Amino acid sequence: MKVLVYSSKKIEIPYLEKANKEKHELTFIKEALSLKTVMLSTGYDAISIFAADEANAVILEKLNELNIKHITLRSAGYDNIDLKAASNLNIKVANVPAYSPYAIAEHATALLLALNRKLIESNKRISNFNFTQDNLLGFDLNNKTIGIVGTGKIGSVMCKIMHGFGCKLLGYDIKESKKLVNSYQLQYAPLKTLCKEADVISLHTPLTTETYHLINDSLISEMKEGVIIINTARGAIINTEHIIAGLEKGKIGALGIDVYEKEKGVFFSNDSQKALEDLLLMKLIAMPNVLITGHHAFLTKEAITNIAETTIYNLNCWQENKTTENELTNV
Ligand code: NAD
Repeated sequence: MKVLVYSSKKIEIPYLEKANKEKHELTFIKEALSLKTVMLSTGYDAISIFAADEANAVILEKLNELNIKHITLRSAGYDNIDLKAASNLNIKVANVPAYSPYAIAEHATALLLALNRKLIESNKRISNFNFTQDNLLGFDLNNKTIGIVGTGKIGSVMCKIMHGFGCKLLGYDIKESKKLVNSYQLQYAPLKTLCKEADVISLHTPLTTETYHLINDSLISEMKEGVIIINTARGAIINTEHIIAGLEKGKIGALGIDVYEKEKGVFFSNDSQKALEDLLLMKLIAMPNVLITGHHAFLTKEAITNIAETTIYNLNCWQENKTTENELTNV
C-alpha cells in the first residue's frame, strides 16, 4: 500500500522501516493531519496518524473524497478521531491497543519520584555548585495511599509498581479487576472517596465525554492538602484552570504531566512562540512544583518497536483484504 505517515518523528522512522521490510511504500512527513494538511493525502491508499493529529468529521469527509479508506493510528488512545463519522464513510480505523503499558506506568512513576524527591531542583542547584538541602524534603511512598483512576492495562502496571513500593492502593474504574484486588490488595472506591484518601492520584483512563475534565474544582476540593497528581493519560481529563488554582492555593502539592489539554500544535515541535502564546502552559512551566514532559511516556525502545510492528501488521491485513483485530470501526 502507498501510505502517508503523518506526524512522523525522526526517532520512530527506523523502527517503522525495519518493521515494514519494504512491503509498503511509506512516505514520512512531520506535519500533523489537519484541515490544512489533509490534501497531502492525495494519491495515497492509507494514512497513519498519531495523538496530535486531528481526524474530525470534516477532515474524514475530505479523506474520503481523496479515497483514503484506511487509517492506522500509531497510538492506543483514539480520542482524536471521530469513529462514528469514519464508520459512516466506510473508512477502516485501527490502533495499537497495547504496545507497552510498562513504558507509560514507569514514566508516571518517574514523574512522581522526581517531584516528590525534588530531583529537578536538586540537580539545578548542583549545576551551580550549590549543595544545600533547604526545601528538598519529600516523603516515603511506603505506606502512603495511591489512587489509581483507570485500572486497565497501564493502570494495572501502575498498581504492580506502587504495590512494590509498599503503598496502599485505591482504584476507581467502571470495570473492576478481581486480579488486581487479589494480587495487589487494590481496593475499589468511589472517585470522591479515592480523592479524599489518596496522597497521590495517577490518571489512566481514556479521554471520553465521561472523563473530560474529570479532575475539576469540585473533586479537587475533596482531595487531601498537598496531594500529588500525575497525568500520563490525556490532557483534557484535567481542567487546567482548576488545577492551576489548586496549585496556587497549595491544595495540590505537585503536578506531573506528560499530556496537556492544549498540547496540539505545541507538543512534538520546537516552536517557542506557540508555547509563549499559551498563558496557562506558561503558568504551569513557571511553577517549581510542576513537572512537564512533552507526551513522551511511550518513548521506550520496546514500545516503539511494538507500535511499528502493529502499524505494519494493520496495513498488511488490509492489503490482504483481511480484518485486523485492532480495528476500532465496524466497516
Ligand atoms: P485501557 O483501555 O487498557 O484502560 C483504560 C481503563 O479506563 C479501563 O479499565 C476502563 O474501564 C477505564 N475507564 C474508561 N472510562 C472510564 C470512566 N469514565 N471512569 C473510570 N474508568 C474508566 O487503556 P490503557 O492502555 O491503560 O491506556 C489508558 C490511556 O492512556 C489511553 O486511553 C491513552 O489515552 C493514554 N496513553 C497515553 C500515552 C502517553 O504516551 N502519554 C501512551 C499510551 C496511552
